[in-house]
Amino acid sequence: MIAVIKQGVPAAQVDNLVNWLETQNLTVHRSEGVYTTILGLVGDTTQVDIELLQNLEIVESVTRISEPFKSANRKFHPEDTVVDVSGVKIGGGHFAIVAGPCSVESEEQIIAVAKQVQASGATLLRGGAFKPRTSPYDFQGLAADGLKLLKEAKRETGMPIVTEIMNANHLPLFEDVDLVQVGARNMQNFDLLKELGHIRKPILLKRGLANTMKEWLMSAEYIMAGGNEQIILCERGIRTYETYTRNTLDLSAVPMLHELTHLPVMVDPSHASGINWMVKPMAMAAAAAGADGLMIEVHNDPKRALCDGAQSLTPEQFDDVAKRVRQIREAIKE
Ligand code: PEP
Ligand code: MN
Repeated sequence: MIAVIKQGVPAAQVDNLVNWLETQNLTVHRSEGVYTTILGLVGDTTQVDIELLQNLEIVESVTRISEPFKSANRKFHPEDTVVDVSGVKIGGGHFAIVAGPCSVESEEQIIAVAKQVQASGATLLRGGAFKPRTSPYDFQGLAADGLKLLKEAKRETGMPIVTEIMNANHLPLFEDVDLVQVGARNMQNFDLLKELGHIRKPILLKRGLANTMKEWLMSAEYIMAGGNEQIILCERGIRTYETYTRNTLDLSAVPMLHELTHLPVMVDPSHASGINWMVKPMAMAAAAAGADGLMIEVHNDPKRALCDGAQSLTPEQFDDVAKRVRQIREAIKE
């Protein structure tokens, strides 16, 4: 529910209203514009007497919002959220490229790839250590050792690191991880999301394999309800009837989410297409659609990659993609 306060109402009177609403077990998000103050009421608003609120002298209007996501809703947080990942900003006009291998395989591999993608303009390094694989017989990642190698690459290059968490029990191992990724398969692992609401680290929340944008935003809401508001959404393709591509990249999610939420929206063209040569056009299209960043898989030797080699770019190919993406961003500047 949103309450718009009349222009020129003294702050003390707004404070009184906020205090009163809070006694009704509601959390109140206050957004102060130049002329208008808007109160976003989060909690069980079914108990709120809407007529009573509407008739208060200081209240201009009250609207019940139909969207069940409140904290993520742009309606009462009109400004873009800028997520700061250890100094790298994403959202609100700040664009960042996350690049690196699907999984960390060895010290040489992760450090070589880190240096190369950094030289091409990536500002965040990715690498899976806990890998969610469809088959239990496939490479499952180097787990804690993989995280150690990722940290080593961070020490070498100064790049903040991004890696996936699959189990909240692993959180102590993630202390030096700068951006914690929730993968598509865990987008609705509500216990994990609740735990991530209690930490104070940014979260990269990927879209579930077959989830709607509303369900995705509700997952962001789970994290935000715990007090962690540093969330980046990442579109990575959804399951459709199409089989030529690994998934179907839903680029309409970028403008739609920018309309619905203040959270930054990234795009992962690698998992979306599953095909090396499709990453470039899809990355360019994502930039043109206004994405706040990209996540791209890069491997120094894709043919021998232990995971997702078919969609991984060589460092040289990544360099070209990064250049083209910069050109697109330049071309669409208003
Ligand atoms: C990944 O980014 O390594 C990954 C497994 O992606 P997704 O969760 O989107 O499948
Ligand atoms: Mn992968």
